[in-house]
Amino acid sequence: MITTDTPLQKQGRIIVENIIEKPETIVPRPNLQDYDETYRTFEWTSAYDRVEWNDCGRLNAAESAVDRHARSSRKHKVALYWQGADRNEKYTFLELSHLSNRFANVLTELGIEKRDRVFIFLPRIPELYVSFLGILKTGAVAGTMFSAFGPEGLYDRLHDSGARYLITNSALKGRVYEIRDNLPDLERIIVVDETDVAEDEVSYPEAMKKASETFDVAEMLPDDPAFMLYTSGTTGKPKGVVHRHLAIVQQHLTTEWVLDLHDDDIYWCTADPGWVTGVSYGILGPFSCGASVVVHDGRFDPDVWYSIIEQYRVTVWYSAPTAFRMLMRAGDVYKNHDLRSLRHICSVGEPLNAEIVHWGMRAFKLPIHDNFWQTETGGILIANYPSMPIKPGWMGKSIPGITAAIVDDDGNEVSPGVEGNLALKPDFPSLMLEIWKNPAKYQEYFMGGWYLTGDRAVQHEDGYFLFVGRADDVINTSGERVGPFEVESALIEHPAIVEAGVIGKPDPLRGEIIKAFVVLSDGYEASDDLESDVRRFVKTRLAGHAYPREFEVVETLPKTRSGKIVRRMLRAKELGLPVGDVSTLE
Ligand code: ATP
Ligand code: MG
Repeated sequence: MITTDTPLQKQGRIIVENIIEKPETIVPRPNLQDYDETYRTFEWTSAYDRVEWNDCGRLNAAESAVDRHARSSRKHKVALYWQGADRNEKYTFLELSHLSNRFANVLTELGIEKRDRVFIFLPRIPELYVSFLGILKTGAVAGTMFSAFGPEGLYDRLHDSGARYLITNSALKGRVYEIRDNLPDLERIIVVDETDVAEDEVSYPEAMKKASETFDVAEMLPDDPAFMLYTSGTTGKPKGVVHRHLAIVQQHLTTEWVLDLHDDDIYWCTADPGWVTGVSYGILGPFSCGASVVVHDGRFDPDVWYSIIEQYRVTVWYSAPTAFRMLMRAGDVYKNHDLRSLRHICSVGEPLNAEIVHWGMRAFKLPIHDNFWQTETGGILIANYPSMPIKPGWMGKSIPGITAAIVDDDGNEVSPGVEGNLALKPDFPSLMLEIWKNPAKYQEYFMGGWYLTGDRAVQHEDGYFLFVGRADDVINTSGERVGPFEVESALIEHPAIVEAGVIGKPDPLRGEIIKAFVVLSDGYEASDDLESDVRRFVKTRLAGHAYPREFEVVETLPKTRSGKIVRRMLRAKELGLPVGDVSTLE
């Protein structure tokens, strides 16, 4: 059993209340200054009027995100700063509103109907944002796909969703044609950068030119579907998750509360809209707050990334542990850049090791704020707010409107400090509407009035949650349960280790033993001396049973394209088993 009484905390490594000071520039939102009071009294319905609804109780998330600002004093404010490889562009709220109206007209002309699925397969170019918003405006369901997918990943998504239209470009469309014949529902391919197109294709530039910039936005019921996307595939085959228009309420509020976006912020979310963070907090949440969003269409490169912050004077930055670990690995590169515009940094997608928080303090003079949610939940659930002390290594507290708890396998709440299933009351606006065409899978998420995340965690008496691991990844060694996160976090505190993936390996004596795959920091080489040193180091940090008995130095860890460590792959390779679905892996 994992309790909060592990050696990690005895050394004061995890529970480090208040050691990280809030930067002075952060002005917490008044309603979260008194967290307990807000938490006790908050109801989602009280926030419905924060995003625009009409008199009949209908809304459209695209209108809430963009159009209402295009009608306000923000109309000529830059909504989107776009940085491509060799050029940049900017779009005001009014321009985005007009362009997405045009695209909605293009789709209407093609005969689109409410609930039709329209998928986007594009790099992070302005047309992706315009078409996403345009699709929502028609009442159809927008699906996003990461531009690195191969034909197999595309087939799974387009076939499963029954997409009727697809928006892509000349560079990517070849991959679609490889599977075109097996997609009976796909009627038209809309190509964003060609004017001379095949018969069943549509030229985006030509069609947009002819389309009107006014459009009667479809008024949707709160529970009508708005967008769908497939999970990251970390634990197995990706699931098609459908979200409703009402989700914008939670995306809007959490963007304010957790990402702390204000009117004068320049915000950069590094996630691709092919993943849920890139939709909920790369498009809907920040636009609905009227913030200026920076989009960078390019690969990860520490120097380029820091240049983006410098050049656009980014104030709020939302990224992921894998990116922070790679930046940490790049060493002093940040010193060549003026990053003083930054005032708030957040992280999501994987556990944020305490070591990264401490590195962030050194590099940016700011704490990195962890928050937790899933594709299925559409919006942030648990977070370290700007207005509260953060405990490095902990995910934070549930946000107002969210009841999170730790339950045992029968759905009974357990005491503080006891490890169990991280569960939520399924009564929040951004919870998925359905798993596409798979009601049985959808039902599996629910038990005894709880929505089960599939993750294991511990809640401390003070309300903070500690991530233990995905249920599938938790290791059972000599009758003790050990979460990979705990072991990996201890390993990367060693200066020679930049990343670690930890698995349980079947063992006749102990049930499982712990095996660690480690990636070395630049300048270190594998040697017996180093291994002994690492062994000595982790022994002082982990309880005896949590100590890895086997080590292996690897060049890289298997990851999803969104940067998550895929432990099932490490396990399969170690044991010579089939690796399962690899469509989302790097
Ligand atoms: P799949 O469901 O296909 O296996 P996935 O779970 O990685 O993939 P996502 O919905 O993108 O798909 O990721 C959500 C999961 O990511 C969470 O269930 C959790 O395991 C992990 N996660 C997200 N944020 C955090 C965080 N702050 N700390 C720890 N884990 C996190
Ligand atoms: Mg998942």
